[in-house]
Amino acid sequence: MTIDIRPHHLLCILTYAGKGYSEEFTRNYGRIVARLNAGETVSIVEGPDEICAPLVDAEAEPHCLRESVTRRDADASASLARLLRRPIAVGDEILLDVPTTAALRDAFASGTVRKACDGCQWSRLCCSIARRGFRDAFLIGHAAPEPTPDQSKERE
Ligand code: SF4
Repeated sequence: MTIDIRPHHLLCILTYAGKGYSEEFTRNYGRIVARLNAGETVSIVEGPDEICAPLVDAEAEPHCLRESVTRRDADASASLARLLRRPIAVGDEILLDVPTTAALRDAFASGTVRKACDGCQWSRLCCSIARRGFRDAFLIGHAAPEPTPDQSKERE
């Protein structure tokens, strides 16, 4: 299974710690992060994604459709593509495994992928979570399964 995610949410997911616009929004967000931790992959989409869904359903003019949010996506795509040395475009799939999550967080903490965050109302919270080493954040990153006994023998 894949999870539809718009590009700038690849940044937001790194600091998500249970706070958000509404109870339905955070409940849905928590389920998405749990699926990512379990190894489901991100599928990059344009416009509102699975994180936006509760807002799109609940608001007459959801901010998810604003041009400023589309600009965040463009900025995030560009900076993350540079960092990961791969395209971040519609239809691309990304596994947020432990090493990838750590690389994204290093870059987030150093500010090199934060252009997309300019003017965001959550910036202060995200900065403080990053300063605290992301320990309050829910995303762990998918851990590769331990090798089976047979696979371990093959390596010997
Ligand atoms: S500051 Fe805003 S855009 Fe940046 S990671 Fe936080 S919530 Fe996302």
